[in-house]
Amino acid sequence: MRFSKMLIPTLKEAPKDAVLPSHIYLVRGGFIHQVASGIYDFLPLGKKVLDKVRTIVKEELDAAGSQEVQLGFVTPAELWKKSGRYEKYGAELLRFEDRKGNEFVLGPTHEEMMVELAKQFVSSYKQLPLNLYQINLKFRDEARPRFGLMRGREFIMKDGYSFHADREDMIREFNLMEATYRKIFTRMGLDFRVVEADSGAIGGEGSKEFMVLADSGEDTIVVCEGCEYAANIEAAKRKRPETEAEAPEADLNKFHTPGITTIEDLSRFFYVDPHYLVKTVAKKAIYDEGRSEIVLFFLRGNDELQEVKAANAVGANELVDASEEELEAVGLVPGYMGPVDLIRNVGAMEGAPPYHEERAHLNVRMVFDEGLKDAKNMICGANEKDYHIVGADLSVLKDLEFTDLAQTQEGDACVKCGGKLSYTKGIEVGHIFQLGTRYSEPLGATFLDQNGKARPFVMGTYGIGVSRLLAAVIEQHHDERGSIWPLSVAPFEAVVIVGNIKDEAQKETGETIYRQLLDAGVDVLLDDRAERFGFKMKDFELIGFPYAIVVGKRLADGMVELVNRQSLEKRELPVEEAVRQLVETIR
Ligand code: ATP
Ligand code: MG
Repeated sequence: MRFSKMLIPTLKEAPKDAVLPSHIYLVRGGFIHQVASGIYDFLPLGKKVLDKVRTIVKEELDAAGSQEVQLGFVTPAELWKKSGRYEKYGAELLRFEDRKGNEFVLGPTHEEMMVELAKQFVSSYKQLPLNLYQINLKFRDEARPRFGLMRGREFIMKDGYSFHADREDMIREFNLMEATYRKIFTRMGLDFRVVEADSGAIGGEGSKEFMVLADSGEDTIVVCEGCEYAANIEAAKRKRPETEAEAPEADLNKFHTPGITTIEDLSRFFYVDPHYLVKTVAKKAIYDEGRSEIVLFFLRGNDELQEVKAANAVGANELVDASEEELEAVGLVPGYMGPVDLIRNVGAMEGAPPYHEERAHLNVRMVFDEGLKDAKNMICGANEKDYHIVGADLSVLKDLEFTDLAQTQEGDACVKCGGKLSYTKGIEVGHIFQLGTRYSEPLGATFLDQNGKARPFVMGTYGIGVSRLLAAVIEQHHDERGSIWPLSVAPFEAVVIVGNIKDEAQKETGETIYRQLLDAGVDVLLDDRAERFGFKMKDFELIGFPYAIVVGKRLADGMVELVNRQSLEKRELPVEEAVRQLVETIR
């Protein structure tokens, strides 16, 4: 291809809202063009990179035995209603009707559609296992589309779905997909970690995410300094923290704590380590059809609530902050909330101060963090203004719901080896998921097993953010001048830059080199534009082709320059030698 003929609208200025290098360079380099919030056109260079990414994904998946299909982008709402996700998916799902009033959604993911397909054509265990994938458009009406291709509303995903007769076989495929994804991301020159991930409230037993390490990543990953353990903060576990702080031993009682409402104030007031304070976080949990309830989450005072864990604990679609009015409406006293039944024990104690009978019967859902299991000598809110309870022993309360709610913090000890945990940032480019029968069951997708018995498919699902990968690659491969594409996904492997196109000798040599490289199988672009030399070099650096051969003034002595975009190193070589070395480097 010739630069002069290609549509490569490079720009001097970055879009106003662009903060990430990938966003800035993809737009400035003429790869993409924004049409609307979170919706982008791919221009010729962008399409070319996209196709290279696609090809790598396809080659590795096909080699692993997956089969490519292409499903409708517009999907019938009925399927979503059957699976229960029509409500669950919330505002990200774009719903609409056709002229006949039939309801549809733009596919944000395709579990329902793929299960429907298997249901139609797979009826016997003899047809299993089966792994189908597509590389196709997705639409999610994201709350905050941003960072260019990183979080679009319309984007391209590879989504794969596997069908199995049993769990064991599904896990075999899950492991194969993990290995395949590792190959894919390695071929793209990415530095990534495979991390344990949140499987969400809706089904699924195990899941792993592929995180490209980058400071600009939206995900926080917890990594162990001592072993291989790595997890998304939404799922990260830790060893239960211990404390050397002295326990505030006391008999169960109410204590007057006027105006003391925060963990810090309480800690100071009682001279007590927050380890012995019960932190109460009240949230409004939102369920299907807008149903909601107030939930109290309890943790030790030095822990923070992990909201994804908390939402999963109660099976909520979302947790939102509860207003003071909403808390008061169910009888809670903001600033003095605590495990509600404790007060009854105080009330029952001889000589204890009077308590409000109605406070003992609050009907509020409570969930406790594991760290509070059998906790003694605790101080917590009394559910009464200006009072806390001291000497609380949580083991006296019956039927409490304990689960992991606390956010793993830097410096915590690793669950696997006890090593020190720390945070790092990542961009999620892939997610693999052990689904089980979460979709096959409600959608009635079954096969006949060896005994002729109908059983639901056991499934796995596997996603890759194909368009997001363009951004992820640049986040790891750029400098202050522009992108630096790894060879495997570069828009062109090399560019031949003719310094002055009006100079016949330069022009002719440029053409010759260009043809020689083409013949050698190099994906090469000829920059034959009638532009200043400096301008062309700037474009080379901005766009980020891995190599350039510059045909300039020194051609008079038979010399050209071989430029490496990564190191910006320039080597003066005779024409033949430059071509030979470039071909050798690339092949
Ligand atoms: P995120 O947490 O980033 O919103 P997700 O968990 O919703 O991602 P999945 O449903 O697992 O994502 O989708 C599979 C892959 O699709 C993700 O790993 C990611 O790479 C990509 N992806 C998801 N949402 C977007 C988006 N809005 N824009 C671009 N790529 C996306
Ligand atoms: Mg998402």
